[in-house]
Amino acid sequence: MTETTVEHIDILIVGAGPVGMTLHLALAAGGQKSLLLDRRPQAALQTDPRALALSHGARQLLEQIRSWPARAATPIETIHVSQKDGFGRTLIDRADYHLPALGYVVRYRDLAGALAANLASDAILADAEILDIHADDAGATVAIRHADKLRTIRCKLLVHAEGTPGDDPAVSVSDYGQHAVICEVTPTPGHARRAWERFTPDGPLALLPLGNEYSIVFTLPPAKADAVMALDDDAFIAALQTQFGRRMTFAKPGKRSRFPLALRMRDTLVKGCEVWIGNTAQTLHPVSGQGFNLGLRDAWQLSEILLKNGVDRSSLDDYAQSRRLDRQGGAFFTDKIVKAFSNDIGPLKLVRGLGLLALDVCPPARHFVAKRMIWGARAWP
Ligand SMILES: Cc1cc2nc3c(=O)[nH]c(=O)nc-3n(C[C@H](O)[C@H](O)[C@H](O)COP(=O)(O)OP(=O)(O)OC[C@H]3O[C@@H](n4cnc5c(N)ncnc54)[C@H](O)[C@@H]3O)c2cc1C
Repeated sequence: MTETTVEHIDILIVGAGPVGMTLHLALAAGGQKSLLLDRRPQAALQTDPRALALSHGARQLLEQIRSWPARAATPIETIHVSQKDGFGRTLIDRADYHLPALGYVVRYRDLAGALAANLASDAILADAEILDIHADDAGATVAIRHADKLRTIRCKLLVHAEGTPGDDPAVSVSDYGQHAVICEVTPTPGHARRAWERFTPDGPLALLPLGNEYSIVFTLPPAKADAVMALDDDAFIAALQTQFGRRMTFAKPGKRSRFPLALRMRDTLVKGCEVWIGNTAQTLHPVSGQGFNLGLRDAWQLSEILLKNGVDRSSLDDYAQSRRLDRQGGAFFTDKIVKAFSNDIGPLKLVRGLGLLALDVCPPARHFVAKRMIWGARAWP
């Protein structure tokens, strides 16, 4: 093992997931260099089982950095929202918004692949371990181990994009008592580019059109998730069918994976020369597919501010201020939906049914929900 001298750079981004890579590419498009660092080998991105619903706004941003995975994306033309064993439903249709699609579904690995394809060979240190961080107002000194070498990097700004945080006193956690079981299934008849969000007392069930399949997010209390993970394929399809109903039949389930769900909000986005973006700043419930869309807007906003004001600590305060409404709006929106719908209380079921009906017959209310999904904070008046 050899030790090298201190390397000086402007911006170090820790975490080369889709949010970190977006920030790097958006900065590069404006002529600003940064270095990505990830603890995993780059090939690990290809093993993530998630499918992501991306908004129309997300597509527009990714196109600007030539990272829109067009061939891997399935458009969503309508979204059907309903509750199990209860009345009321809402249909959101792209035709009302004069858009080619309300959103798109892509596999995490295809999105990550499209972003990674645009990275220069010296843009990333993958399979690297951080040994120590010493941050002060003027910058951060980061000791790392990479390819059997110890390196010391001094940066003016340290961007954290490490994804969902573990235990951290700076992060408030509200556990939903739900796990998401995800997999792909084949529907009959075909999906006709329709997404479904079906609320059940166990938690929301989402069906996202992906190629010829549906990518499903089957949300359940942990003990039921254990049971569903252990089922054979036929019994799993039967359980899914019970939760969804009989409007379609499903077959050929793919490999199942599970994710515990909690709302994790970092109290402050900026400390000295450090800034937090993407899931490490806020991890939301996957209902209505807000998480990556929000993280993408974090990366975009930060790049715009740094390109305009320069790589300066004071830019970070502008950034934190500018992200307040979008992140709090996203957290509020998903949290309230999950809490209002994940129960079997009779009077609440009635109120929910009336709410869904009202959304359906009241275009301004429906448009607000649709725009939140298409544009994020720009939907707010
Ligand atoms: C079941 C489920 C369904 C979802 N569906 C949707 C959806 O439909 N639409 C949507 O917008 N969002 C969705 N999300 C949320 C979305 O997956 C996340 O918001 C998104 O992946 C966050 O990207 P990120 O780059 O911040 O973090 P990640 O994708 O987690 O990437 C973080 C990177 O940081 C690296 N890293 C971590 N720690 C370190 C360290 N100490 N040193 C160096 N590197 C480190 C990791 O190796 C990784 O490469 C869903 C989430 C779940 C669980």
